Amino acid sequence: AVQANYYFVQLDTTSAASANLPPALHQPQQLLCTRRTRLKKIGQKVMVGDQVVVDQPDWQGKRGAISQVLPRSSQLDRPPIANANQILLVFAIEEPTLDPHQLTRFLVKAESTGLQICLCLSKCDLIDAAAQAAWHDRLKPWGYDPVFISTYHGIGLEQLKQQLRRGMTIVSGPSGVGKSSLINQLIPAADLRVSEVSGKLGRGRHTTRHVELFELADGGLLADTPGFNQPDLDCSPEALTQYFPEIAQRLQTGNCQFNNCRHHAEPGCVVQGEWERYPLYVQFLTEAIERQQQQQQQA
Ligand code: GDP
Ligand code: ZN
Repeated sequence: AVQANYYFVQLDTTSAASANLPPALHQPQQLLCTRRTRLKKIGQKVMVGDQVVVDQPDWQGKRGAISQVLPRSSQLDRPPIANANQILLVFAIEEPTLDPHQLTRFLVKAESTGLQICLCLSKCDLIDAAAQAAWHDRLKPWGYDPVFISTYHGIGLEQLKQQLRRGMTIVSGPSGVGKSSLINQLIPAADLRVSEVSGKLGRGRHTTRHVELFELADGGLLADTPGFNQPDLDCSPEALTQYFPEIAQRLQTGNCQFNNCRHHAEPGCVVQGEWERYPLYVQFLTEAIERQQQQQQQA
């Protein structure tokens, strides 16, 4: 188990610098590390996904001390995870039947991270080609081009692997949609369920057992975190307007009369209209406004 002050750091066995290691150390190596006092003094935290420098690693005793955290390309605070660049959102088409409202909640939460989104529709073995094409056509105006997969029939997995090759992807989606089945297919060997990550000799990436980080056979890292399987929205009304691709599409070809338009009841708005998810946008906007008012009352 991970203690609050200990970090698991995985050696990068693929880096050029690690070529100098004795052969035995070319196996995945995990060190249990502390954080140097200097880092504590400057308040430098270590997050899952961080690339770190480990001082004088003790490979025999599997211990070390983190002396430096390398600059992050991204940072999410809930759940805390560094250097992710993509969210893989998995939804089943059937069993359970895809609910556009719930899907939109997850999409909005994913959009709020600013990371790339890869939408994956699972269990496509339960529908026919015409139904699949209908979903494809329906989601296109939303701004998404889903990858259809079936872990049962091995459909779409190659396409998905291509999308996961670069960088670190966070898996998200409600329970029962086949996330575990998918992760198991992407990472066939059970012992790879503990992360293997990159960094030069003496460098590695911090992992914990709460957020599992997997190295994929064809490249890329997959982070499975329970924190991303609940679409608890907490964004401002202004931010929400950024999280529907349909809105950006409409603002490309025209401007609303007011530049702080929330696209609800304002005159001269180019966003209000007959698009499918507009009623959902209005519903989420109303929730966001209520949330903001409650927060202001509490403050
Ligand atoms: P998770 O809760 O998202 O991790 O979902 P699981 O991986 O535990 O799968 C939930 C259920 O969906 C299980 O009964 C699986 O057997 C089933 N399932 C997973 N993948 C597929 C698939 O490709 N097709 C069908 N029809 N069922 C699947
Ligand atoms: Zn507007």
